[in-house]
Amino acid sequence: MSAGPVHPSSEPARWKYLDRIRTRPGPFTTPEMFSGETSAEAMDKMKILVIGAGGLGCELLKNLALSGFKNIHVIDMDTIDISNLNRQFLFRQSDVGKFKAEVAAAFVEKRVKGVEITPHNCKIQDFDEDFYMQFQIVVCGLDSIEARRWINATLINMVDETVEDSYKPLIDGGTEGFKGQARVILPTITSCLECQLDMHAPRAAVPLCTLASIPRQPEHCIEWAHVIAWDKEKPFPQLDKDDPEHITWLYQKALLRAKEFNISGVTYSLTQGVVKNIIPAIAATNSVIAAACCNEALKIATNCAPYLGYPENNYMMYSGNDSIYTYTFKHEKKDDCPVCGVSARELAVDPKWTLQELVDSFAARPEAQLKKPSVRAEGKTLYMQSPPSLEEQTRPNLEKTLAEGLGLVDGQEIGVTDPAFATVSFKFRLKFT
Ligand SMILES: [Zn+2]
Repeated sequence: MSAGPVHPSSEPARWKYLDRIRTRPGPFTTPEMFSGETSAEAMDKMKILVIGAGGLGCELLKNLALSGFKNIHVIDMDTIDISNLNRQFLFRQSDVGKFKAEVAAAFVEKRVKGVEITPHNCKIQDFDEDFYMQFQIVVCGLDSIEARRWINATLINMVDETVEDSYKPLIDGGTEGFKGQARVILPTITSCLECQLDMHAPRAAVPLCTLASIPRQPEHCIEWAHVIAWDKEKPFPQLDKDDPEHITWLYQKALLRAKEFNISGVTYSLTQGVVKNIIPAIAATNSVIAAACCNEALKIATNCAPYLGYPENNYMMYSGNDSIYTYTFKHEKKDDCPVCGVSARELAVDPKWTLQELVDSFAARPEAQLKKPSVRAEGKTLYMQSPPSLEEQTRPNLEKTLAEGLGLVDGQEIGVTDPAFATVSFKFRLKFT
């Protein structure tokens, strides 16, 4: 499919029904709302930012352009891979290797007359608060929790109670196979992404004993080949998950094991999926979730109908894997949220733990998920990941125990920083167990 010709005569018709909503007052608008303008005129001046130009991002850009947003920016650091083409429908084979943001922007601009899309081929962390301040709405179509947490913390940090324009609604979409979610975050007003972090707990691993003694599913046989058989037999010096020869070895091992336990369903592609931890992206789920996010953006921009997060429900779940189930609920703001809350979060620890054990535990805790934490207590640095000189200086502390070695007490507050969240210090209160 090519971008095809644009028929100028069809353009007014394209906006006819949308403009019935955008040019007339409704039950949720007041005459002062847009200072005498129609919401169509107000939208013409709005800038909206899309983060991610992948599976969700392509859908978002197309939908937002067709919903009447005229000034859109898009950030994505990735280039197009051939495996993206089955669902990222703004890309063609000839685009492989080019920047996603650039190609997606050009494609939608060509098809929707009058829209201007500015691509940024970089990381979100490359921009500062001044950049994010120019937008009225931010929409995320990301597959990484880290990037979401960063933009969430940044937008909340930007809030200045005396400046109305400093509140940037964040609309976040996410999908995993047949499941998805759409949520709206009004910085400092509703529950934020960090309040909701435990909804994204890392997936529980299958217990080793299940793998070793009683596999029940084809995935268990593959994990057995991956974790146990590979280590025992070491067919190659180092497992390369992109090497077909290595995957074939695991596949054949898993297949033998499956036969032994009468389990069916072990295939080469399942082996690849389990070993590389791939969750298949389903184009139609992306489409459902992006559509929900786009409608929230339109409602926020025009006030034509109540949006998620106002007044109550702020989280929409879509479960395509349980037949079709959708549910909208209110996720409460947490007082001890490290980003938008006011109080320190309680952290259960064993006083006999070494600092190293505490540091390691931050990565595994669903409510923290900090991979490179540095720890301070009452202004004193206990451990710093960087710069190297400070790391070396504080390293001996890692072997000391929390209570006896470092003198920490029950109820003490500690501050934790992580390079992934430049501006945020996570506050925890130690609770000895
Ligand atoms: Zn929060």
